[in-house]
Parts: sequence; structure tokens; C-alpha cells
Amino acid sequence: MGVGPTGKGDWLTTRVDQLVNWARKNSLWPMPFGTACCGIELMSVLASRHDIARFGAEAIRFSPRQSDLLLVAGRISIKMMPVLTRIYEQMPEPKWIISMGACASSGGVFDTYSVIQGIDQFLPVDVYIPGCPPRPEAILDGLIKLQKVIERDSLRHYQSAETAT
Ligand code: SF4
Repeated sequence: MGVGPTGKGDWLTTRVDQLVNWARKNSLWPMPFGTACCGIELMSVLASRHDIARFGAEAIRFSPRQSDLLLVAGRISIKMMPVLTRIYEQMPEPKWIISMGACASSGGVFDTYSVIQGIDQFLPVDVYIPGCPPRPEAILDGLIKLQKVIERDSLRHYQSAETAT
């Protein structure tokens, strides 16, 4: 182990972080949670014109146990929120969340008692995609932003989380 940029003996950990983050950001397995019109727009990103496979995220999974990216697309009602939370809890670490569209991020035009006014009240959202609905290009932009979040991740974060439990 060499001396890293911080002056401590963390050179090896830093290099492993780079390798692991590179692999993770280019092989995301999204689980779409589409509840409304945003879900339809999301489908177009998977098709050949926009081709999300160019970013390594085409392996869509409908099981939380096989996913590392929860993609919430559409409004979430109060009754639906416990289900969404349960799905998130069933996903293995490391995991990320993208909130797609105005409804998922803030309730959108549905300023009413029965609609969650932003899923980040209950879940740790990593990236928000604005729009009603967001265009496919915006969804890809959100994915690239998430890749930059993953680039900054460190294995030490998960080690310390395990030690704390
Ligand atoms: S943000 Fe707009 S397009 Fe998306 S679910 Fe809400 S109303 Fe539909």
C-alpha cells in the first residue's frame, strides 16, 4: 500500500475505488417504478432511438433483489408509499434512486392530501430529473449525473456502515 493523495496509506483503496466505481456506473440494473405518464416516457429511453444501453443501464429488472437503481417515474399516492419503501429496502447495497418528473419529486400538479409531495420525504433520492414529463434526453442526462455521483463513491463508506451495524 502506497501513500495516497491525502498523505495516508490509502493509495490501494483509492485505485480499487476507481475500478469498482467504473464497473458499477457502467452496469446499472434499474428497477422502474412507473405509476403514470412519466412511466410511458421512460419506455422511450429504452427503445432504439435513445438507447439507454449506450450507458450500460439496459438490464431492466422487476425484482428489487436484482436491482441497484430505483427509478421512480410518476406520482406516488400515500397508500403506495409503503410499497415503494419496502421495494427500496429489499434492494441490496449499494443502491441509488432517481426521482423522475415533477410528480415524484414534488407532487407536481397534484397538490392534494392523497399524493406524496416528494418521495425524498421518505427515501434518499440521489438525482432529480425535472419536467412533466422529462424528455428522454433529460432522463439520459439524469443517468449521467448519477454516474458522476457513483464515481465519487468509496468502498470505505460501506465498510464503516457494516462496522456500525
Ligand atoms: S410529472 Fe407530468 S408526466 Fe410525469 S407523472 Fe406527473 S403529470 Fe405525468
